[in-house]
Amino acid sequence: MKFLEYEGKDIFKSYSIPVAHRYGVLKIGSELENLDLRNGPWVIKAQVLAGGRGKAGGVKIASEKNEAIKIIKNMLGMKIKTHQTKGQDLTVKEVLVEEASDIKREIYLSMTLDRKEALAMLIASAEGGMSIEELAKKHPEKIIKFPVDLSEGIHDFQVRKLSFALNIDETIFQDFRAIVQNLAKMFKEIDASLVEINPLAILKNGKLMAIDSKIVTDDNALFRHKFFAEKPDHESTEIEEEAKKIGINYISLDGNIGCMVNGAGLAMATLDTVKLAGGNAANFLDVGGGAHIEQITRAFNILLKDKRVKAILVNIFGGIMKCDNIATGIVQATRKVSLNVPLVVRLEGTNVEQGKEILANSGIKIEQANSLWEAAQKVTKAAG
Ligand code: GDP
Ligand code: MG
Repeated sequence: MKFLEYEGKDIFKSYSIPVAHRYGVLKIGSELENLDLRNGPWVIKAQVLAGGRGKAGGVKIASEKNEAIKIIKNMLGMKIKTHQTKGQDLTVKEVLVEEASDIKREIYLSMTLDRKEALAMLIASAEGGMSIEELAKKHPEKIIKFPVDLSEGIHDFQVRKLSFALNIDETIFQDFRAIVQNLAKMFKEIDASLVEINPLAILKNGKLMAIDSKIVTDDNALFRHKFFAEKPDHESTEIEEEAKKIGINYISLDGNIGCMVNGAGLAMATLDTVKLAGGNAANFLDVGGGAHIEQITRAFNILLKDKRVKAILVNIFGGIMKCDNIATGIVQATRKVSLNVPLVVRLEGTNVEQGKEILANSGIKIEQANSLWEAAQKVTKAAG
């Protein structure tokens, strides 16, 4: 799960990592007039799941209240494209307003998992800020890395070495040490795969402050973090959220063939086969092992919500659930939903002959296939 900057900063705060004073997080339609702006200048920041906002107009400083309000209004709803959005436009739905900081120096500090080393890795650079990617390419020697055993945390001597390499003044060493050690503690406790502070600023008043935050946590550990699980997942689409609520594994893709499959492995094989046949799946959908009538009906409803879907492929393997029961489920479900696109069904497994017969005698326009390959070709043709 990815966290927006302000969500990440809330977590930073709870680990005593200093962040700027917050004036508010505004959503599209928020009443700006009530915003209590004192002690400018303010920094106004687009809350999207991508870095590089600074260079793309997503980070602005205002020194006057009217100017701040104007910037907030312009930023809300704005489309933003940064070097991290893979060519896509992101819509700014929320804006963070903070007290602007007087920055003297920007440091890069992060912690991530190094799969090769099978350890957490602390990464830092004396030259933090907006050009860290370029720095990593052109001057990899300026990036400091060392493995961390999370059961021990980061030792004082390690912070010493780091602070020497980053040229951290002795007067702020204690504060720096607390931030580095708390970062490692947080990384471990929230089951993160990435925690990044870029920049960690040294302010003109000598204080250290996390100016930005980036946090990614492991979804497999969500059960340990009730609060995270309840937080909106900013990456998922509306249909994905709905599917999650009814226990269907659903991921939106960008094609036009709706796929309903039981089992994640079969679902992936189905996507590959559709692709091989020249088609493009609109989604990954796993109805789960016990595909019964209600679940099939729900899955159809989910598929039909996606207006791009031009044909549906049902590929179900009858194992524990026998094919005749599944066929009955499909027939009943299609009667409940208004199916207005071609439907191709491929059944295989226990009682497959009875299942096919039920489909054939249902009076519903269902095209059957005897193999996955045949089904993929038929549905690709039907989707046009
Ligand atoms: P990013 O571009 O998406 O990574 O957004 P950041 O929050 O990291 O901001 C980008 C850059 O804007 C920072 O590296 C700073 O140079 C600058 N910046 C952000 N907040 C402030 C602030 O409060 N004061 C000043 N002076 N600069 C800021
Ligand atoms: Mg940043």
